[in-house]
Amino acid sequence: MPKTIVTAGDRVYLKFFDLEYFEKRAVEADAVIDRCTSLDEHEFSGRIQGADALIVIDRPVLRTHVEKMERCRIVLALEVGYDFIDVGACSQRGIVVSNMPLYCTGEVALHAFMLLLAVQRKLKPLMAETAGGGWDYNVCKPLCFTAGKKLGIIGLGRIGRRMVPKAKAFGMEPVAYDPYVADDIFELTGAARCYELDELLSTVDCVTLHVPLTNETRHMIGARELRLMKKEAILVNTCRGMVVDEKSLYVALSDGIIAGAGLDVLETEPPESTNPLLHCAQCIVTPHVAWYSKESLDRLKVQGMDEVVRVLNGGRPRYAVNPEVLS
Ligand code: NAD
Repeated sequence: MPKTIVTAGDRVYLKFFDLEYFEKRAVEADAVIDRCTSLDEHEFSGRIQGADALIVIDRPVLRTHVEKMERCRIVLALEVGYDFIDVGACSQRGIVVSNMPLYCTGEVALHAFMLLLAVQRKLKPLMAETAGGGWDYNVCKPLCFTAGKKLGIIGLGRIGRRMVPKAKAFGMEPVAYDPYVADDIFELTGAARCYELDELLSTVDCVTLHVPLTNETRHMIGARELRLMKKEAILVNTCRGMVVDEKSLYVALSDGIIAGAGLDVLETEPPESTNPLLHCAQCIVTPHVAWYSKESLDRLKVQGMDEVVRVLNGGRPRYAVNPEVLS
């Protein structure tokens, strides 16, 4: 009997459509791909019961699911974030949980900086002006120059660190807040350390978010935090929508509490067409695309199947987020 690798979550099929590459590589582990496209919970539970591996994007894998798995060896989040998987439940059953931490670091940092510049240079009102037949640059006033300004980086991990040289290249001063990173990493990357989130928020000109979604970071930026920011400040979020309280952000943009926002992620994706942030002149929204390039898509499928094949063939996972199960 060949082993079974179940795939689930709409975005798996959106990214990889026919899973041809996955099917080819599965053979290396004497396995076949079982595409689960149904959103039905009962169906999903039935499919994962006999699975040897599960590959998911944004599809909740809860304790109740994990308890149904009879012989699963690895649950792979085919993305950087894995907040939708109950890692504790997997660990209890000795199941490896892996993510894909390296496939798009450069792309996300580039997208975050692009959003920062686009919002800062008031691209949205300027494009609306020219598309409407106008040629009046006054629609972008006031507009401040980036050089000499402070960029506040929240989360100095893989992506956050890539923001530091970009800020410097544009004459900005990078300042970061990350309570879980040692002083020497700040020194090595060249970002000034800020020990208090409130202090960072109130002193920088742009804030860019690069934290995982956890109980601690959920709505980390809400009405109180937005009020601490400067009136001319810009907020960029490419990490997870739930890190920002969207209702408060909309109020802050409408009332002039902050100047603008660039968002690649929203609390609900895809959003309702009535989400006011989509129609707000001071806010640029992109559809969770920061990770994407032709090259990163290739890296993702190669690194993902390398990991699953490795584990199914008895090898050590390279990207386990619960390495304690290996002992
Ligand atoms: P990472 O794990 O390398 O870095 C995250 C950093 O956040 C770590 O240094 C950690 O110490 C820090 N952190 C955790 N809790 C914090 C807190 N309360 N306050 C301040 N800092 C805190 O992750 P990464 O590779 O840099 O990715 C960051 C996030 O970006 C991911 O978790 C993912 O959700 C998101 N992401 C989005 C896209 C996209 O397409 N939009 C693509 C990839 C990743």
